Amino acid sequence: MDRNTFIKSMLPLMTAGLIPSKTMKLSTLAKVVPSFEDTPRMPVLFLGHGSPMNAIEENQFVQGFRNIAQKIPKPQAILCISAHWETRGTYVTAMPYPETIHDFGGFPRALYEVQYPAPGSPALALETQSLIQKTRVGLDESWGLDHGAWSVIKHLYPEANIPVIQMSLDRNQPPEYHYELATEIQALRNKGILIIGSGNMVHNLRMIAWDRMQQDNFGFEWAKEADWLMKQYIRESNHSPLIRYRSQGRAFDLAIPTPEHFLPLLYVLALQEKDEQIEFFNDKAVGGSLTMTSVKIG
Ligand code: ZN
Repeated sequence: MDRNTFIKSMLPLMTAGLIPSKTMKLSTLAKVVPSFEDTPRMPVLFLGHGSPMNAIEENQFVQGFRNIAQKIPKPQAILCISAHWETRGTYVTAMPYPETIHDFGGFPRALYEVQYPAPGSPALALETQSLIQKTRVGLDESWGLDHGAWSVIKHLYPEANIPVIQMSLDRNQPPEYHYELATEIQALRNKGILIIGSGNMVHNLRMIAWDRMQQDNFGFEWAKEADWLMKQYIRESNHSPLIRYRSQGRAFDLAIPTPEHFLPLLYVLALQEKDEQIEFFNDKAVGGSLTMTSVKIG
């Protein structure tokens, strides 16, 4: 598809305000973009992304991502909270055309060549900013899509035709803060927005057993214990031990040595409503100290 054909195919979206034209300034956009239309409540996803190689490999996890997309109504746009974007303060990406960021080192060239050219959505960035009262959300025009977002979203929507924005993790804030902040974007679920948290429930790279990466579902005892307990708390909608993960003992301490891969889960859980179904998928361990466990709520 050449550029003109591409732009033509995007025209209906542009006129609907879902994708802005390149010349439109954000300040102008704020005045002209209508709110997203009301839809039935969208599900919310937590996706265990694991190795960046999942972006280009064919495996059971990739199949799991594809399968879950088939069970979800086609979103108007996606808001992704990725483990790989930590900032001071909270930001949303607001550029019309986010770059594919290759934020990793030492992988095969093929991985650096992956592009995921989904448009951004300044309209959704502004809508998100206006919903959040807890803090002043900044509009970012320099990030893009990091691999926490594109390495998984590309399997859900390979055509890259659904606009994607990211929301950053404020690295200075405690877990409760993230959980509370997430409740403020609940309304997006009724606007056709698919909210995705991308991280890993159990994520301890220092302890990875590199020689057992290929062994199906190999997890250390503490990793399996932590993953099992997390799933149990999620099933019971008992979020408090997950928010207070720092005081849950050894298995959790080893599973969550740093917060960034776990926090996206708290965003997703905060969006759960009382009557909602929970579905786990890809719930397997890799290399002993990492789990791919993913959750669909609603
Ligand atoms: Zn990661």
